[in-house]
Amino acid sequence: MRSQRRHVAAQDLIFAEGDPPTTAFLVESGRIEISTVQHGRVQVLGELGPGELLGEMAVLDNSHRSTSARALTDCVLLPIDRDQFSERLEAADPVVRALLMSQLARYRSALATLTRGGETAPGATAPVPHVDPGLDKIRLESELRLALERGDLDVLLQPLQDMTDGTIAGYESLIRWRHPERGQVSPAEFIRLAEETSLILPIGDYVLDRVCAMLVRLRERRDEPLPFIALNVSARQLADADLVPRWIARLAAHDLPPDRLRIEITESLMFDTPRIAQLLDACHAAGMTVALDDFGTGYANLGVLADLDFDCIKLDRSLVHRLSSSRGLALVRAIVAMARGLRCQVVAEGVETSTQYALLRDLGCRYAQGWLVGRPVPLRDVVAD
Ligand code: C2E
Ligand code: MG
Ligand code: MG
Repeated sequence: MRSQRRHVAAQDLIFAEGDPPTTAFLVESGRIEISTVQHGRVQVLGELGPGELLGEMAVLDNSHRSTSARALTDCVLLPIDRDQFSERLEAADPVVRALLMSQLARYRSALATLTRGGETAPGATAPVPHVDPGLDKIRLESELRLALERGDLDVLLQPLQDMTDGTIAGYESLIRWRHPERGQVSPAEFIRLAEETSLILPIGDYVLDRVCAMLVRLRERRDEPLPFIALNVSARQLADADLVPRWIARLAAHDLPPDRLRIEITESLMFDTPRIAQLLDACHAAGMTVALDDFGTGYANLGVLADLDFDCIKLDRSLVHRLSSSRGLALVRAIVAMARGLRCQVVAEGVETSTQYALLRDLGCRYAQGWLVGRPVPLRDVVAD
């Protein structure tokens, strides 16, 4: 990486139109004239001074210089390597990157029109049509907004079985997107997208409404006791101060007992301990229960479990799938013992085989969720049982 300052004498050329894009510069002192040649005549486009970037456009989109830069006074320039930009661009949000590159392309085309009546500058690269992943993401997000308005988001229920007597204790609500071209899109894909903007908030309210309507429907069926329904909640939703009061109001509007709504928050949110503690207090005060989802997936900080009184721990399916090894078995046994000590229920997620089921039951894990017990299904399949 170059870091040595470059001293340029007045009237010296820094780069010429058509040069390859090797470096950009930060102007430390002096003034620089930016120009282009039009019909054989030099046309001055502007002047740059201290604190401004020079030559970054060609470096950003890897095209030849579309202008020339000449020092008007003695100048000191700090070279900036292409890598310094490109690594950051690579790491940037693809949407931000797409916006930047589209603005750059538009600026280049305006520059070409201004200086050459629409002809492309020598060495300048014509924009290549391609589907930018950032733009693809924006498109998907707009479609998701539309899907929410149209009600193309389905909420399915997956049963949680009590292994001591085989009854269904409750259900987890899981969202699905019926996409007109892509078919069913997984929440693993679109929930992350929705979390990047505030779109997750109306989606969360939508799922809550559907869950309340489902509880009402289950109550009409006079299931005794009424099973609970678990609601997955994202990090961004937790920042909404009105979240718990809204849950309480919705439940009250349908005259539903608050303990029939279980909140699931994923282990990856645990680093924000004070916020989670507040949520737990507010939920418990209202009578709702809270589960720690995906337990054991990488962010486990066991210490915080001493401060955060979750009602339930959901053993991630990656742990359930390790039951076949003696070390995996030892780990799950220890987690079940820990949960018992904390007076916390344990739900095993992703139970797919009867061997896993039997092992979990023998270890003292009480609840099982997974394809063996039941896949996520629409409410009509639940009430038809
Ligand atoms: P999660 O909360 O951990 O949900 C369990 C996931 O495991 C679901 O994936 C479920 O379909 C899948 N699963 C259940 N049993 C089995 C099994 O036996 N084997 C395997 N391989 N998988 C099984 P899904 O529905 O694709 O949801 C993925 C994640 O998306 C959820 O993980 C949850 O974090 C999130 N999500 C789903 N619905 C919502 C929602 O309404 N709001 C929010 N914020 N997130 C949601
Ligand atoms: Mg969950
Ligand atoms: Mg989970």
